[in-house]
Amino acid sequence: MPDTYDVIIVGGAMYGSSVAWFLSDNPDFDGSILVVEKDPTYEFTSTAHTNSCMRQQFSNEINVRVSQFAAEYVKNFRQFMGDDPRVPDLALHSYGYMYLADTEAFADVLRENQKVQEDCGAGTRFLTPDEIKRDYPFYNLDDIVGANHNLVDEGYFDGNTLFDWWKRMAREKGAEYVTDEVIAMTKNAAGNQVESVTLKSGNVVACGTVVNASGPRAVLTSRMAGIEIPVEPRKRYTFIFAAENPLDRDLPLTIDPSGVHMRTDGTYYLAGCPPDVDPAVDYDDFDQDFSIWEEKVWPIIATRIPQFEAVKLKNSWAGHYAYNTLDQNAILGPHTDVENFLFVNGFSGHGFQQSPAMGRGISELITYGDYRTLDLAPFSYTRIADNKPFLERAVI
Ligand SMILES: Cc1cc2nc3c(=O)[nH]c(=O)nc-3n(C[C@H](O)[C@H](O)[C@H](O)COP(=O)(O)OP(=O)(O)OC[C@H]3O[C@@H](n4cnc5c(N)ncnc54)[C@H](O)[C@@H]3O)c2cc1C
Repeated sequence: MPDTYDVIIVGGAMYGSSVAWFLSDNPDFDGSILVVEKDPTYEFTSTAHTNSCMRQQFSNEINVRVSQFAAEYVKNFRQFMGDDPRVPDLALHSYGYMYLADTEAFADVLRENQKVQEDCGAGTRFLTPDEIKRDYPFYNLDDIVGANHNLVDEGYFDGNTLFDWWKRMAREKGAEYVTDEVIAMTKNAAGNQVESVTLKSGNVVACGTVVNASGPRAVLTSRMAGIEIPVEPRKRYTFIFAAENPLDRDLPLTIDPSGVHMRTDGTYYLAGCPPDVDPAVDYDDFDQDFSIWEEKVWPIIATRIPQFEAVKLKNSWAGHYAYNTLDQNAILGPHTDVENFLFVNGFSGHGFQQSPAMGRGISELITYGDYRTLDLAPFSYTRIADNKPFLERAVI
């Protein structure tokens, strides 16, 4: 392995590979790329535990635009991958999201969000209970005062195939992936540049730029450069179940006012939720808690959809969000003082769909020194330093 690279990326899952792909595919970038990944099975990554959904329904314009690029990217994947005939079409099942409101105050928030989304060209509509019932007669809407709903470019997408192809094609274009762990960083005397990273194997590798793509472990990687960020691992539970009486149409990804969400998942259904008490967890804690299914999720879904009174749990897992405790939004781009340390962190549960826009943005920053397509400056670290939240209200 050479002892110096222009760009070293810490973590090779969705974000490490997104950045590696967009950089290696950029004709104006001619540097060397090293991706350091400590576990190439990716078993305990957020990427392996994702629900892989995309939506237009965000409260911030930039998040809507980031997801709109994701939809464009997924629908034209081969074209974006250089028209390579080996690249497959990606699935995008647009069964939509249904954000239910049980109070007028929350309905007002949904109306405000709908306006933001409509102004971006998204198809979101605010529905009355009668309108919801007309299209989805299976819901119990006794407590519901309205909902936001959109059937365009919202639902499941095959993000894992996208990830596989980014990794494969980045390698083909020269990015090197090494199985190792970054355990330390050395800065210059002024303290404003990371000069090298130290790997668990003992190798010390000099770098032009270092990119923190280490998911829920982002704060550990940042600390190696003397930086604190408000990102912590939070556990999220996913349950796959079969219904004895399946619904006669797709179930939109429905966000119940309780915080439980559910959706169609092939011939099964998927449900998930945060725990009622939601602390940072240990990095290696992936224990499942079946009481959440029995005492919370199943009673709520059976109340919301009485047809789900008879269901059978088929599979389940616990995964980690890289949760930004300041404002539940991404942290993107350089640190204010350590100028060659770049973040792609803190996605708080909507990172899969953001990976095309964010990876492209980081490649632009490294290559040109600024964003050339979407202006992703609202996600910059300066707001963290200034303690000025850029709050995203639509977090699932
Ligand atoms: C249950 C669940 C459901 C989700 N559902 C959705 C969804 O529906 N839609 C959506 O958009 N997003 C969703 N997300 C979020 C999305 O999955 C994540 O934002 C995304 O996968 C994050 O990718 P990442 O590469 O940043 O992190 P990870 O996938 O966690 O990868 C980080 C990588 O860094 C490596 N690493 C860490 N430290 C080091 C080190 N020091 N040296 C070397 N390697 C290191 C790790 O081994 C790992 O491979 C969900 C997440 C979860 C947990």
